Amino acid sequence: MAKLSTLENLADTHGTPLFIVDHDIVRKNYRDFKKYLPRVQVFYAVKANSDPEIIKTLYEQGSSFDVASMNEFLLVHKYIEDLDDDARQKFIWEKIIYANPIKDRGTLRELDKYKPLVTFDNMDEIYKIKEFAPNAGLVLRIKVPNTGAMVELSSKFGADPGTSVEMIETAHSLGLVVEGLSFHVGSQTTNFENYIQALNIAAGIIAEARMKGYEKLKIVDIGGGFPAPYDTNVEPFRELAKKLNSEIDRLFDDKIEIIAEPGRFLVATACTAVASVIGRADRDEKRCYYINDGVYHTFSGIIFDHCKYRLQAFKTGPKEICAVFGPTCDALDTISLAEELPDLDIGDMVYSENIGAYSRASSTWFNGFPPAAIVHINQ
Ligand SMILES: *Cc1c(COP(=O)(O)O)cnc(C)c1O
Repeated sequence: MAKLSTLENLADTHGTPLFIVDHDIVRKNYRDFKKYLPRVQVFYAVKANSDPEIIKTLYEQGSSFDVASMNEFLLVHKYIEDLDDDARQKFIWEKIIYANPIKDRGTLRELDKYKPLVTFDNMDEIYKIKEFAPNAGLVLRIKVPNTGAMVELSSKFGADPGTSVEMIETAHSLGLVVEGLSFHVGSQTTNFENYIQALNIAAGIIAEARMKGYEKLKIVDIGGGFPAPYDTNVEPFRELAKKLNSEIDRLFDDKIEIIAEPGRFLVATACTAVASVIGRADRDEKRCYYINDGVYHTFSGIIFDHCKYRLQAFKTGPKEICAVFGPTCDALDTISLAEELPDLDIGDMVYSENIGAYSRASSTWFNGFPPAAIVHINQ
């Protein structure tokens, strides 16, 4: 995180609520990911934080991107304009995976002209793709255990491993090519066993498909889920990477290309929110602070991401248990009922670290309060 004095100066200059993106940290997270998982190509999951400046920084580092809507696709696709014809052909496949297994017909129709790589996980999607995006390459998303992940995804997506080869054969019989497999072990996964099991399930499907004469699976997409170091209980990324590297090398020959879609890991620690105390009351013998950012805004991750954020004050002094609420008129707009803060006055500022993922990306304008302003540092 940037120095406290820097945060305070930025908040004085730009006002609050403020969302500060430190691009040095985005770059460091990207380099760490590459350093510890050298065999894995990074496809940043744009939904974690779709700020165009973050996409730009990662693009300049050499990242590729996982997109899940036409608008996200276009946020990345604009970089094709700087390329010559040869590079343009490669760009679509090497830089973008459309990793939402469900796509409406209009989106497929629009995507088709790009000959993109798209995921699917059910029979209806195969027929839709055949009809509306026959030029797409396919990646089959399989269902894998999400045990102990902060955000569970396996109830919404993923083909049953038992039906996977049949689906691959169906797609093949329609003249489509299934290029590989993908999975997601659940976001903020601290149970590394999920990855090991998922890799083994994928290897089993590749072996079964080969046995039946289907040799075209050449991508294994290990998805996202890589945990951000929100607290000291999260085992360091290099420990997970060690386990992944040895299992990947054991299971997949070098004809198989390994890609990943980290979202949270790349951006969570890169951003800090700064807000101001706008109101104060003592209720039931508990101090309540009202600040100018909340769960409909930068702290949306409390609801949508099941994430807890610690608030800290710039001011020092003995701390007391207090409640902290956002600015809207809804009681749901509660940041914490048990935060520890020193005695604060109206106008004092608080900050929250590690708030770069699934935060401002899902901010609303609820109650007429606009999303926090963004400042970029170390760009
Ligand atoms: C959300 C998502 C990701 C990113 O997940 P993180 O846990 O933030 O790394 C990657 N791939 C897919 C398909 C997703 O839906």
